[in-house]
Amino acid sequence: MAEKPIVLMPEDVQRMLGKDAQRNNIWAAKMVADIVKTTLGPKGMDKMLVSPTNDIIVTNDGVTILNEMQIEHPAAKMMVEIAKTQESEVGDGTTTAVMLAGKLLENAEKLLEKKIHPTVITKGYRMAAEKSKQILDEIALRITPNDDDVLKQIAMTAMTGKGAEDAKEKFANIIVKAVKQIYAGGKIDLNDIKIEKSKGDGIDDSELISGIVFDKEKLSHDMPSFVKDAKIALLDFPLEIKNPEITTNISVSTPDQLRGFLMQEEKDIKNMVESVKLSGANVVLCQKGIDDFAQYLLSKSRIYACRRIARSDMEKISKATGAKIVSNINELTSSELGGAEMVEEVRHGNDSFTYVRGCNNPKALTILIHGGTSHVIDEIERAIKDGLGDVICSLKSGLVVPGGGAVEIELARKIREFSHGLSGREQLAVEEFASALEFIPTTLAENAGLDPIEVLTELKSKHDSGERNAGINLFTNKVENVVQSRIIEPLKIKTQAISSATDVAVMILRIDDVIASSGKSSGMPKMPRGMDEY
Ligand code: ADP
Ligand code: MG
Repeated sequence: MAEKPIVLMPEDVQRMLGKDAQRNNIWAAKMVADIVKTTLGPKGMDKMLVSPTNDIIVTNDGVTILNEMQIEHPAAKMMVEIAKTQESEVGDGTTTAVMLAGKLLENAEKLLEKKIHPTVITKGYRMAAEKSKQILDEIALRITPNDDDVLKQIAMTAMTGKGAEDAKEKFANIIVKAVKQIYAGGKIDLNDIKIEKSKGDGIDDSELISGIVFDKEKLSHDMPSFVKDAKIALLDFPLEIKNPEITTNISVSTPDQLRGFLMQEEKDIKNMVESVKLSGANVVLCQKGIDDFAQYLLSKSRIYACRRIARSDMEKISKATGAKIVSNINELTSSELGGAEMVEEVRHGNDSFTYVRGCNNPKALTILIHGGTSHVIDEIERAIKDGLGDVICSLKSGLVVPGGGAVEIELARKIREFSHGLSGREQLAVEEFASALEFIPTTLAENAGLDPIEVLTELKSKHDSGERNAGINLFTNKVENVVQSRIIEPLKIKTQAISSATDVAVMILRIDDVIASSGKSSGMPKMPRGMDEY
């Protein structure tokens, strides 16, 4: 009697096992690292990303590149996650983190070929990562949070090579001033800093405003252009006769009925504006529409009004001024109003903005970036965010490390030393971990058109002779003490990059079976041609 076959999975489930699965995943992770590699450092190149709808992004930012690329391969997606974690935890160092993970996996492949078991490799990597933390704590430098100059240098190191180049100093000043203003007792909420963008004027005109700026103009010429001692009402319902968000059918049979209906509507608007006036508000900021009649009534009462304000801006203004967002006109009283020294309309190029200055909450800040095109402005915004992230990290921990590859070389050296004291095959993995770190300085050199081997040799020999701050300065192209040249970065960039790169490398190395369910052609990763027989 023939035995019935056991059906475990549907027929169209694809499966990849053992070495094939490992190699395929490693290959994909390496590809991701290769993609961002050329952007590393101040001399790194940019990438142009074109979306299906032909939107263009020109960027040097690791996480932005990977986010926009719509990566499908499962292991490659895990690499993208590293960049995202790095971005949310530190705000900078995304390229570094992804490259490290890629190199750890590439080096692991060499060990796999020598028939070293993945669990031995992952154990070695874990040991090395743990040791790295210790070593980093030893070699980190302490800064005083009051040293504005050092903080500015940190912001500048973060922004080099990122489109903000020409106005780097100006932005560094803005960033440090902003962060210090919102810094209180070790707590910082990055949301207190709003970034607003204006096409028109030069990059150099970018400014830090104490208060909130948003891209809406006053509704009518007859409204005042500025209001001192502003009492601000935030409304999230429309001041309109017909509410366009609700479709209603009204049947009227005589002209009188129609007139009566319209008059009732007008009366409602009048009542609403009357309530606004009664509350004592002299500024009305509305998330929905304000129609002509309401505008007319508001102008007549010398009230400054804007409509269709983004919800996120409403919330920021609410936090900044203490105004409550009111959903029903009957709830509006003087205690719902927020306060600011001044609300005014300011024109930049073709656009007008509303500035809410001197808010009740002094921590509300806006960085207004000016620039010629939206691509330029967007890239500057990303650079500023890197700068903000780095300055905040440095301020919080007070610990920094030398950049320009110095810290990676010193770490690699110390980890190699550590490996000599180990027995067993993990030692080989620890050594590979050390050489993965050297990938950062060699790439910095390579991207600047220098000979990576030469630079690495010089760096290593200086570190061997005790110069632990020797790094490659890519302004002068010399190996020198980068702490003196003020190329410094927060410690957290490196600790976070190492720990998430190790986590992902370990996770990918432990996979020996990929099972992709049906209907997902992308689920089963394909090897590039020629790789299958390898
Ligand atoms: P990431 O996304 O990892 O932050 P970046 O493109 O911002 O990548 O490059 C960061 C690297 O550039 C760091 O290793 C940093 O030390 C290095 N770097 C920054 N400024 C300089 C400089 N003037 N000379 C040499 N290296 C620099
Ligand atoms: Mg960076």
